[in-house]
Amino acid sequence: MSLYKEKAVSAEEKSGREKMITGKTKIYSVIGFPVEHSASPALHNAALEALGLDARYVALTVKPEDVADAVRGFRAMGMGGLNVTVPHKRAVIPFLDSLGEEAAKMGSVNTVVRAEDGRLVGHNTDAAGFLGALAHHGADVAGKRALVYGAGGAAPAVLRALQLGGAAGAHVFNRTREKADALADLFNCESFQVKAEDFSSPEIDTLYGNADIIINATSIGLREGDTPPVEVGKITSRHTVADIIYNPWETALLREARQKGAAVFNGYEMLVRQAAEAFTLWTGKEAPVGVMREAGLDFLRKTGKL
Ligand code: NDP
Repeated sequence: MSLYKEKAVSAEEKSGREKMITGKTKIYSVIGFPVEHSASPALHNAALEALGLDARYVALTVKPEDVADAVRGFRAMGMGGLNVTVPHKRAVIPFLDSLGEEAAKMGSVNTVVRAEDGRLVGHNTDAAGFLGALAHHGADVAGKRALVYGAGGAAPAVLRALQLGGAAGAHVFNRTREKADALADLFNCESFQVKAEDFSSPEIDTLYGNADIIINATSIGLREGDTPPVEVGKITSRHTVADIIYNPWETALLREARQKGAAVFNGYEMLVRQAAEAFTLWTGKEAPVGVMREAGLDFLRKTGKL
């Protein structure tokens, strides 16, 4: 009797084999601190699987003092691509070889691509993410005026998306006024007029009256009980109100704006679209946006965030 009896391989075993991790499996990663809560592995692994790519995506906790070592490790270990999240989006820049146009303009990197010659190029897909979210939610900003709250790491992407969408201008409010001034300086030009404002501006009623879209790009709203930085009492049904936070799914700002009849949307589609852009930069393939959106929602449901 032969020890090596033949056995047909079932379809199940075949698909299991395709999903096997081998020496050739490419590794993608997001680095951040903290990053354990990230929905990015769910979105990217679903996309990699949908396209049958031999690759996996993991979240890696990297402390601020370890960013240089993390990038060196990424370079040395031949990993496929890197996402960068809070608080490393600016800190990572000195360790890269060059920057794409958007990352250079914003001074912030959320995606690192390994070029064919091995150079590491920093990109920023957050602006494309917010632009995609505007389109997804039917918010045409061409010729419109925006009020933007926040001048932290995510705010430049919001302003850049408004600019790319053809908005006429924006007023920026921020707790630390100098950061709002710097952001206005970075973007203000003839075709896209950006001005920093005080929360107590005497023009506030006019600003709200003339605004079409109001965006919260601060982290206020992440915690239950946070009071929105926006003047909710001045929101009407002619406004569109966006919050780039997606956890909680509906912040107090969005709830109150919705109750006033405004069109509202949260930051989830921005997350999906920035991930889709990163996926395309790494793989050269069109991202399965619908698959990614559903996988992220599934993750949020399973982790009790939705
Ligand atoms: P940062 O920490 O860089 O900036 C935080 C911003 O919030 C600053 O403008 C800060 O003002 C303001 N802020 C924080 N606390 C207060 C407070 N108590 N009172 C007044 N202002 C306050 O964060 P990011 O810009 O990176 O992220 C901001 C939010 O956007 C986060 O909630 C994050 O989850 C979300 N985000 C969503 C993305 C998506 O894809 N949907 C992508 C990236 C971010 P100051 O300058 O004065 O400190």
